[in-house]
Amino acid sequence: MAERKITAPAINPETKPFWDAAAQGRLMVKKCIACGELHYYPRTICPFCHSDRTEWLAVSGKGTIYTYSVMRRAPEPYAIGYVALDEGPKIMTNFVDCSFDDLKIGKAVKLVWKPADGGAKVPMFTLA
Ligand SMILES: [Zn+2]
Repeated sequence: MAERKITAPAINPETKPFWDAAAQGRLMVKKCIACGELHYYPRTICPFCHSDRTEWLAVSGKGTIYTYSVMRRAPEPYAIGYVALDEGPKIMTNFVDCSFDDLKIGKAVKLVWKPADGGAKVPMFTLA
């Protein structure tokens, strides 16, 4: 099966540290210093308490499938969905390098990095 082309991510000052870490193979989320909650995608303002006191935190890249959907009618079928990271936040992602028939809610997954147009590494997940 052909690898699906991955669009280059939009990188801005708010997300640049995320992509810098991604280039080194580290998946980052944001932790709120005020309320202690983790969130993803990374934002400067905490979505739970609206504090601007947030810091970057590297996570393990392990999690479980929260939801998924297989796009079989696309020219190159693909699977998207959410992974619930072991650390808590849910990350919208693609499932790759596995049979889509084996995907199931609750199954363990792990992080893999896939190159996008322009060279940025994009976090995706495969069955653990
Ligand atoms: Zn907060």
